[in-house]
Amino acid sequence: MIQYYHINGELTPVAEAQLHVTDLAIMRGYGVFDYFRALQGRALFVEDYVQRFFNSAKLLQLEVPCSQLELRQNIQQLLDKNGEDKAGIRLILTGGYTTDSYTPVKPNLLILQHPYASYAAEAYERGIKMLTYEYRREIPVAKTINYVTGIRIQKWLKENGADAVLYYDNDIIKESDRSNFFLIDQAGKLVTPEADVLPGITRMKVIQVAKELGLPVEERTVQLNEIFEAKEAFITSSIKGVLPVTYMDDKAIGTGQVGDISKQLGAAFEALVERYVMAKT
Ligand SMILES: *Cc1c(COP(=O)(O)O)cnc(C)c1O
Repeated sequence: MIQYYHINGELTPVAEAQLHVTDLAIMRGYGVFDYFRALQGRALFVEDYVQRFFNSAKLLQLEVPCSQLELRQNIQQLLDKNGEDKAGIRLILTGGYTTDSYTPVKPNLLILQHPYASYAAEAYERGIKMLTYEYRREIPVAKTINYVTGIRIQKWLKENGADAVLYYDNDIIKESDRSNFFLIDQAGKLVTPEADVLPGITRMKVIQVAKELGLPVEERTVQLNEIFEAKEAFITSSIKGVLPVTYMDDKAIGTGQVGDISKQLGAAFEALVERYVMAKT
């Protein structure tokens, strides 16, 4: 049972965890967050996520009211207190209680614990369908709480039998709404957009394992039409890991089946996760 959250430095029973209505997150959607998994009571790659959270805060000119070390300690304290082996952890930093409904004052820092979430196993076997959508995320390297477009198009995706969206801007591929995008070209090279995307921690780890496996990796500008010449494609995120993509705009990618390199990278990423957990427990 998840009985506690960590609110502004205090372990707080879930039922008492609240923010005042004047928070700038409510008034203007102003805030940043991060999300990661915990296994065996240990937050995965927590150093990387906490660092990204601080960077997102800085990009919105919000100051996290503690050090990175203190934040990592508070995350561990929450995990210990709730006593669940597996969990999702969400960090949120809001603009705080504003007096003029526009100016940030003192940010509120929340550490929430959620039940462990995982994507349907079947999707990894079959691969998912994506639809392309032209959209440019604002301050793309910051993980802000603004998911207006991603949430608004959920219905459209569902009506068209798609599982996720692929954002592009001026015929340049960016990322999905909550995941990064990779393709494998005909030469077997791993290719992923470099600029104006959220620096995904899973993205970074997958690039690391690909290099360990001796796969060539290119982080560069990727044209939209490269998808239709690719052998394989997948998206990455903390919840999804490596999730194969087999259809884009109703056209098959490669053979339309989950490819070997995607499978290999998925397994290598999971092995890296296990190594991390082993080292921390
Ligand atoms: C969270 C997120 C990702 C994935 O990042 P991970 O650290 O791998 O979970 C990618 N793109 C966007 C827009 C995101 O919000």
